[in-house]
Amino acid sequence: MTGEIVDISQALKQVLEVAAEHAERVDTEGVFPAEAVAALRHSGLLGLVLPAEVGGMGAGPVEFTDVVAELAATCGSTAMIYLMHTAAAVTVAAAPPPCMPELLPAMASGDSLGTLAFSEKGSRSHFWAPVSTAVAAGDAVKVRAEKSWVTSADYADVYVVSAGSTSGVPGEVDLYAIAAGTPGLAVAGTFSGLGLRGNASSPMTIDVSLPSESRIGAEAAGFGVMMETVLPWFNLGNAAVSLGLAVSANSAAVTHVGTARLEHLDQALNALPTIRAQIAKMGIALAAQRAYLRAAAESVSSPDDTTMTHVLGVKASANDAALAITESAMRVCGGAAFSKHLPIERAFRDARAGSVMAPTADALYDFYGKAVTGLPLF
Ligand SMILES: Cc1cc2nc3c(=O)[nH]c(=O)nc-3n(C[C@H](O)[C@H](O)[C@H](O)COP(=O)(O)OP(=O)(O)OC[C@H]3O[C@@H](n4cnc5c(N)ncnc54)[C@H](O)[C@@H]3O)c2cc1C
Repeated sequence: MTGEIVDISQALKQVLEVAAEHAERVDTEGVFPAEAVAALRHSGLLGLVLPAEVGGMGAGPVEFTDVVAELAATCGSTAMIYLMHTAAAVTVAAAPPPCMPELLPAMASGDSLGTLAFSEKGSRSHFWAPVSTAVAAGDAVKVRAEKSWVTSADYADVYVVSAGSTSGVPGEVDLYAIAAGTPGLAVAGTFSGLGLRGNASSPMTIDVSLPSESRIGAEAAGFGVMMETVLPWFNLGNAAVSLGLAVSANSAAVTHVGTARLEHLDQALNALPTIRAQIAKMGIALAAQRAYLRAAAESVSSPDDTTMTHVLGVKASANDAALAITESAMRVCGGAAFSKHLPIERAFRDARAGSVMAPTADALYDFYGKAVTGLPLF
């Protein structure tokens, strides 16, 4: 962080201006939002939720979800890149790797962009069960993995990577921080998605030898860090991306149906009761999701015995609401939305990602059902 910008809304405003300028091109050309990410690096927001002692802003889940939702309403790809950085940063903060003392301050200052490399070719969306391996050899560890999707692949400065633990016990997980440029860390393909087209969510192959002190936390502590740290922050942030995309589609739709005219009838589209009903449902669904996200963020800030169900429920709920709201926005705006005359179809496409990002919405519904009926999640 430069030290010049300390106010969150001022910092965000500057990033949003840059993101807005490039969002359409990022989507159309499927390119990484380099300008918006540079603005994020400069803004201090990469350290938003990191503690002041390491140079962060010391903000909490509520501020985080507000920032992510606003970014998503402007550029979904930038918001997702920001979310993956923050998820990596809080993971590193949970147990900084002893051999990388500068890492957390660099993630807070914006010098180091991070991401999570969890999903694997072998275990697909079941990120909690990596089939990759970590094998200890003296003070070193050899990590081998085929990661199926890594947002900011080739653009991140540090990758938080999951692997089967050096303990050799099936089901145990280690997490490692691996710096970009480490020999054996390679992007293994290109990313071209339906939405979030600037994400650079490419597959990566990992065949690296690292100091064992690049591990995040103790041997076999990775699963616990995933559940206690990654899950709450990632689910809140992913829900906020869904909310922001839905907000953007909803406001464009409301404006359009109030202004697009049927001249022969001397009325706007909002004269049609069917359209008004759709608009009403969209607005109500949005308000409900906004309130649920706020409740979940506050619950993660001050945990109690409802926090786990909030964490499990909020992502699935926001993901599915965004699917429905963006689809309704497409429908009420007709061909104007379909033909890209309105800024709705980008949000519609971007919103398709949330529910299939792990933990997927369907997996979360199952976990939620298990949690409230007293069954173990795993
Ligand atoms: C844009 C984008 C960016 C991404 N970025 C990253 C990243 O930075 N890092 C990262 O680690 N991963 C990332 N991912 C990967 C993501 O987290 C998922 O792992 C991936 O989308 C899963 O796709 P799949 O085809 O392997 O799903 P599958 O696992 O094959 O799932 C297929 C279907 O089965 C359902 N299903 C699977 N298991 C269950 C279950 N237990 N209960 C109920 N239903 C279930 C799913 O919900 C889904 O409908 C990204 C994905 C996308 C789309």
